[in-house]
Amino acid sequence: MHQATMTIGGRAITGDQSFEVRNPSTGAVIGRVPNGSQADLDAAVAAAQAAFKTWSRKSDEELAQACRDVTAKIEAHAEELALLTTQEQGKPLNGLGSRWELGGAAAWAGHTAGLSLPMRVLQDNEAGRVELHRKPLGVVGSITPWNFPVLIAVWHVLPALRTGNTVVIKPSPYTPLATLRWVELLNEVLPPGVVNSVSCDDRTSNLGAAMSAHPDIRKIVFTGSCATGQRVMQSAALTMKRLTLELGGNDAGIVLPDADPKAIAEGLFWGGFINNGQTCAAMKRLYVHERIHDDVCEHLVAFARKIPVGDGMNEQNILGPVQNRMQFDKVSRLVADAKKKGSVLLGGEPGEGLFFPPTIIAGLSNADALVHEEQFGPALPVIRYRDVEEAIAAANDSRNGLGGSVWSSDIEHAKRIAMRMECGSVWINKHGAIQPNAPFGGVKTSGLGVEFTEEGLQEYTDAQVLFS
Ligand code: NAD
Repeated sequence: MHQATMTIGGRAITGDQSFEVRNPSTGAVIGRVPNGSQADLDAAVAAAQAAFKTWSRKSDEELAQACRDVTAKIEAHAEELALLTTQEQGKPLNGLGSRWELGGAAAWAGHTAGLSLPMRVLQDNEAGRVELHRKPLGVVGSITPWNFPVLIAVWHVLPALRTGNTVVIKPSPYTPLATLRWVELLNEVLPPGVVNSVSCDDRTSNLGAAMSAHPDIRKIVFTGSCATGQRVMQSAALTMKRLTLELGGNDAGIVLPDADPKAIAEGLFWGGFINNGQTCAAMKRLYVHERIHDDVCEHLVAFARKIPVGDGMNEQNILGPVQNRMQFDKVSRLVADAKKKGSVLLGGEPGEGLFFPPTIIAGLSNADALVHEEQFGPALPVIRYRDVEEAIAAANDSRNGLGGSVWSSDIEHAKRIAMRMECGSVWINKHGAIQPNAPFGGVKTSGLGVEFTEEGLQEYTDAQVLFS
């Protein structure tokens, strides 16, 4: 059994109380994690504030080197972290699972090391010189969800470090083990206090809420549900914290009548079922033109049938269980409701424990909850349409706006449709493929700000303009 610790000021902290973490594939307890208190959070913030004094004065090259050192640590411990991730999150080691997540974590960390925000000269003439400098904020609070525990931690922490900030990170109570271990590893190459971790069970101690209100945290970077993101925004208002919010999505895919059903089946499947659908920018509703609707469904189902589902520690499996009971119950409720009206093409019945088979249900419309609510699980609704204008309107009829996709054999036509979708990222003939050299963020209620690239980096800084 894994005994996790928080890291505060470079020291391992056990805390007075602890809680259990279970493997969603087996239900077995796999770790005990400190149930941190407000005093632990205050100590972590104080350690980060103290470290900020010297960290913020490091040269640009020193900060870049520190991020390269962190990248090397991730690479060296990728298998250890992947094993922990599979055991606590449930995603398989293979496929688009935990080894893939760790590969992404190293790639993103390395890419972030190579970014910079150099001073810009805005004016330099006889009237004077104007320079735009980017300055670190101070202590950044990072709050992460349970779907990609290490990758999202990298997305939050590396840009903060690269710009001279220090960090307190709080992982989800469902998946704290890999993140807490990752922070221990970071502390082997970073000065004490630069990255600190706290953990809590959210029921008897909610340090996410406490971080959002903490007077000495200057920014919150939060990835999670829209409802919690709104609470973060409310409590952050009192201290005027900077915010990056990556929230929920209900991404639509639109298949145009000229698409090739067989050729797109694999892309459609992984667009919807990556990480068992527990992915912010997964395709969560699929609109298919009536002319090819049945063919698309047939090829999609045929591909889905080939995917082995089971315990993620088994090297053969490609999809695992739903991560937790709350999410499992939500998926079960939405599928049960959808079955009253739609036709089940695949799956549809809850399995053992937290296993829910890949489920595809046709014959639905935007009026159905499986279509208009974010399911965040392995159940994809298919909606038949006649007119592409109708499909665009239905796709945009959502408060969310994270991602979207258009599937067609005519790329230029698909691009014109894609540009009319109300979302932060839109793909042609694929869905959800995010990468470190492109900004990522949601519109409407899916978030605030972007991550990745220099645009994301800027959000960890204040502008200071120097006139001389
Ligand atoms: P969640 O909102 O339940 O939890 C996210 C984090 O917030 C956890 O660490 C949790 O402990 C913490 N938290 C709980 N109460 C809090 C409070 N009052 N104040 C501050 N923090 C608090 O989300 P989840 O269920 O872990 O993740 C699933 C959701 O995340 C889905 O909606 C998904 O779409 C979204 N998501 C979005 C992105 C993105 O980049 N846009 C990425 C991954 C997941």
